[in-house]
Amino acid sequence: MASNKDELLGKDLEELENYMISIGQAAFRARQIFKWIYTKEVNSFYDMSDLPRELRKKLDAIAQISIPRVLKQRVSNDGTRKYLLELRDKKRIEGVLIPQGSGKDSRYTICVSTQVGCPVGCSFCATGQSGFQRNLDYYEIIGQILGSRRELKRKLKSNEENIISNVVYMGMGEPLLNYDEMIKSIYMLNHPKALGIGQRHITVSTAGEVKGIKRLANEGMQLTLAVSLHACDDILRNHLVPLNRKYPLSALIEAIEYYISVTNRRVTFEYVLMDEVNISKQDAQNMIRLLKPLLANVNLIPYNEVAGLGYTKPSWPKIQQFFGWLAEGGLNVTLREEKGSDIMAACGQLRAGYSNIYRN
Ligand code: SF4
Repeated sequence: MASNKDELLGKDLEELENYMISIGQAAFRARQIFKWIYTKEVNSFYDMSDLPRELRKKLDAIAQISIPRVLKQRVSNDGTRKYLLELRDKKRIEGVLIPQGSGKDSRYTICVSTQVGCPVGCSFCATGQSGFQRNLDYYEIIGQILGSRRELKRKLKSNEENIISNVVYMGMGEPLLNYDEMIKSIYMLNHPKALGIGQRHITVSTAGEVKGIKRLANEGMQLTLAVSLHACDDILRNHLVPLNRKYPLSALIEAIEYYISVTNRRVTFEYVLMDEVNISKQDAQNMIRLLKPLLANVNLIPYNEVAGLGYTKPSWPKIQQFFGWLAEGGLNVTLREEKGSDIMAACGQLRAGYSNIYRN
């Protein structure tokens, strides 16, 4: 349900100071509120104990801080956590927290969503097959991280503000189709007084939205760009990633060359391995020809099966063979460790089995 209240989440400190002045308050109140939001994930003004009682009441009447609620969660055998979050309009998104390291000092990478559903419709992806509902606002993207971190700290009984060290825009949706909101959220993530996450710890993943890649290059940021490639000829890629019909591989590669020339950053290519689909010797040769001239890393991801989509994961010897062809061909290639596939939190599985996976 739409609200008439002023949204304070996502305002930077200066904007919040201006807001406080505009409602007749001292600017320093903004710093107090900012701290409550970004270090304690507090969204109720009544819990901001260093604000005068009258101000808490006033703010509650006119403003809101929309940190989404974690409705349900599942924890994988490998420690990966998948959260179902509810937005203000009751729409639901999923996010995944992946542990890096172990023990009490471990940090998490969060995989965030930028859209409810996804309009790209990749044929192997659970999100893509569930349709598109709407874009997220930038404060919802930030709120997703705060809501997840609040729940994580609660579960782990941790006060560690930096427990989330990396953010990957790789959840539901195509981030570059929601460019303005995505980039605003990145500026807030990076803001030293907000979440303070370094640009090099932020990855934006795209299925090949060429215009957005060029815009991102021009931001002058040191982000990591990840491209979901999955096929190295247009016929197959048109089928797997329908965005390829708009931006064929030649246009995609040209945009990536531009990105590399402007940022001097290595680009990661994600390649989901599907049996009998994209792991032949010819596929390997096509990839070598396409990517060898670029400053590129290739990340191979064995397919995480989704019921009803008709794709399967290749056998381990086939995966090794494909890996070997690429490495021999001179590509910088890694095989991604699978995380969270037992709770349908792995790449391409978000929103799969939506209603029946959250039993606990
Ligand atoms: S793989 Fe990514 S871009 Fe393709 S449908 Fe799924 S979420 Fe959208």
